[in-house]
Amino acid sequence: MAFCITFGTHEFSSQLEGYEHVRAYCYNCQHWNGHCITRWPFFTVCFIPLIPLSTHKYKEVQCYTCRYTQDLRDRPDITPETRPPAGGQYGIQPPPQAHGGFQQQQQYQPPPQAQGGLGYK
Ligand SMILES: [Zn+2]
Repeated sequence: MAFCITFGTHEFSSQLEGYEHVRAYCYNCQHWNGHCITRWPFFTVCFIPLIPLSTHKYKEVQCYTCRYTQDLRDRPDITPETRPPAGGQYGIQPPPQAHGGFQQQQQYQPPPQAQGGLGYK
């Protein structure tokens, strides 16, 4: 009589409530692509989750760029308001300099006056 029972684990993971829009900094790859998730591993029999392996869900921040995962308890800097800083890595590019720049300005520039008030008499 052959009985094939498959044991394994299955993880339920979902977006962490209240942190859906968080983009956290990844210390591994230096990208602002950390997303907060919850994980709840289950012990499965025949692919049916039976026993939770943890009494509570893990709260983690997972980087979508490099798959680096960190426990949220190790990242006290992450709050529901965590966002990439404006003007940071993905910030606004400085406006391009006006091209050309070869227009000759026929403007007489007087030589700069001696600075410091060290005028001789
Ligand atoms: Zn990363």
